[in-house]
Amino acid sequence: MLNSYILDAPTLDWGNDGVPRSNEFDDVYFDKEAGLEESKYVFLKHNNLEERFKALSAGQTFNIAETGFGTGLNFLCAIQLFQNVAPKNTKLHFVSVEKYPLTKDVLKQALKSWPSLQTEADALIKDYPELCQGLHHMDFIGNNISLSLYFGEASEGFQTLNGKIDAWFLDGFAPSKNPEMWSESLFSEIERLSYNTTTFATFTAAGIVRRGLKSHGFDVQKVKGFGHKREMAIGHYVETETASIESNKPWFHVRNKALPTNSKQENALIVGAGIAGATTARALAEQGLKVQVWEASDRIANGASGNIQGMLYPKLANQDTPVNRYYLASYLYANRYYHHYQNQSNDESSYSIWWNQCGLLQKPKNTQEADKLSKIIEKRLYPESIVSALPEGGLNLPLSGWVKPSEACVNLLTHENIHVSLSRSLKELKKTTRSECKFDAIDKDGSLEHFDYVVICTANDHQILDQWLPLQTKAIRGQVTHAPIAAFRTAEASGDQVDKKLSFNSVICGQGYVSPPLENHLNFGATYDLKNTDSLIRNEDHIENLEKLRDLLTIETDNIDISKLTGRAALRCTVPDYCPIVGPIMDRSHLISKYSTLSKNAKWETSEEAPFVEGLFVNIGHGSRGFVSAPLSARYLAALITDQIAPLEQICIETLHPSRFTVRGLKRGEA
Ligand code: SAM
Repeated sequence: MLNSYILDAPTLDWGNDGVPRSNEFDDVYFDKEAGLEESKYVFLKHNNLEERFKALSAGQTFNIAETGFGTGLNFLCAIQLFQNVAPKNTKLHFVSVEKYPLTKDVLKQALKSWPSLQTEADALIKDYPELCQGLHHMDFIGNNISLSLYFGEASEGFQTLNGKIDAWFLDGFAPSKNPEMWSESLFSEIERLSYNTTTFATFTAAGIVRRGLKSHGFDVQKVKGFGHKREMAIGHYVETETASIESNKPWFHVRNKALPTNSKQENALIVGAGIAGATTARALAEQGLKVQVWEASDRIANGASGNIQGMLYPKLANQDTPVNRYYLASYLYANRYYHHYQNQSNDESSYSIWWNQCGLLQKPKNTQEADKLSKIIEKRLYPESIVSALPEGGLNLPLSGWVKPSEACVNLLTHENIHVSLSRSLKELKKTTRSECKFDAIDKDGSLEHFDYVVICTANDHQILDQWLPLQTKAIRGQVTHAPIAAFRTAEASGDQVDKKLSFNSVICGQGYVSPPLENHLNFGATYDLKNTDSLIRNEDHIENLEKLRDLLTIETDNIDISKLTGRAALRCTVPDYCPIVGPIMDRSHLISKYSTLSKNAKWETSEEAPFVEGLFVNIGHGSRGFVSAPLSARYLAALITDQIAPLEQICIETLHPSRFTVRGLKRGEA
């Protein structure tokens, strides 16, 4: 586990020629005169990319992995070539690792050298992630280009991935100047992720690199280097038996494609139109699937996602844990995600703001939490751009903000590949034996439709899965209060003082939360009711919310006229281990019978294939953090369903995996 997510910034020298040079490695990022041509010569030409891109067939994804993202020049050259020559409906997924990431400003400066790549560079600069250790995923330009960028040590980045790489760009500073990167563990990972058509190209012909690759299954040749450089190395993977890309813990596997994609457009049923369903539907629609969304109620976002304002509130931990890594990656992704779709909806439809990055102030609820929050600061766990200290104690989270949940969901569900049916619930789900589809789905009126994939996004209503994998969640009622600003003016002696206290611009969280005033109302909450599961609006809950608000804003609330308040009550879907349940469904009885040895030996490993219910997935349990966790979870599911490299670290995949409860039970000897 990490001591901090903060990465060392490289110290750079900019020569008179405007070329960035690393002081640590005493090497340049690119050659001023010929950097672009060198990149094309070494990495594109010697991986034969033009021909290989042209030969892709519809639905295929080409995977490139690179060591040392640097300024992103190689990435930009690759995506430009891909866009110029690849057939329609094909995709490029570029994975790169970078231990000393450049800041956005430096990146901007460096990429000014290449006017011919400006469009691609602008897209990269816009979405370039925070400088925070971990895997960051971005989709660009019509969604046929993806970038998964791991900030951290190269070999560790590749260890977190599963998938097959088609071409390696082995960049990085020269082995003589950077021997740590060109390590045995890096070469092992390169082998693990390679298969029989994988190629590599590298600017160096150093012995350590050639020997490393040779001893890991590559046929290695020296060829003429670029320009005045004498030699470089290229090669391809020749072993027929590749090292398995997946672990020997098949209960946590996610690959679920039994057959190569057939030519028909695949279809998916998403059950539930809250934030989990809307983000999943959108992610699949953008990957080209025909998507139906069935929603039992008569409104989009009618459940826990349906409040007037929802917060992007990540509750970051004071140490690095798998759950925290997942929430941190999700939080950073969600921030980029809402900006992206908000901008898109401004372009396309009538102007409406449904996402506002106004920041969030996290005030400690009690002394215990005050300690926890101050540890986050003392340990310098997160970069300041993500978390900083508030002078009065607590945290400032500038990337947070509020979302208007139902507008967000409606916007996300507005896509040519998505059809939403309201008041339609799934009554029965049957696996078919027909080859053309995997499921028969029957709604409450008895109509039947066929689907290749089904994703259950129905929060606590997941009983349909019980026939395969019963899951335990707990419904926790929460009531929010919606109060006209005028109600506070009459309650407080001086109206001016009220206006001052209500002129805050960030979401404020503590014992409760309050969002900045919207449309002359204040939205605050929420209760945490373990006893009731109804949606009645209770006065005592309004009173509880007012008490929390009084503490947050130091505002008078005793004289508020309760009859002026409205509210909304919904059920959060929570999971005992505080992490959502996202991933493929496996059959519980088969999990137990196949892997029963785990009850005798918890460390047991096997290659015995996992009992997937092929085509069936779940995305539930987001609690009160759905606006943080849903977008990346959805993108992850879309990657699984379309057989792409997952945009989540393996450790996070296991943390979210629906099989985890059965496996824990087995290990405790309970099953
Ligand atoms: N491919 C880059 C481009 O297109 O701009 C140029 C790469 S630059 C020559 C080498 C990069 O490798 C630097 O950005 C450096 O920080 C990175 N690097 C060096 N050692 C590393 C390591 N151990 N793990 C990950 N990245 C590393």
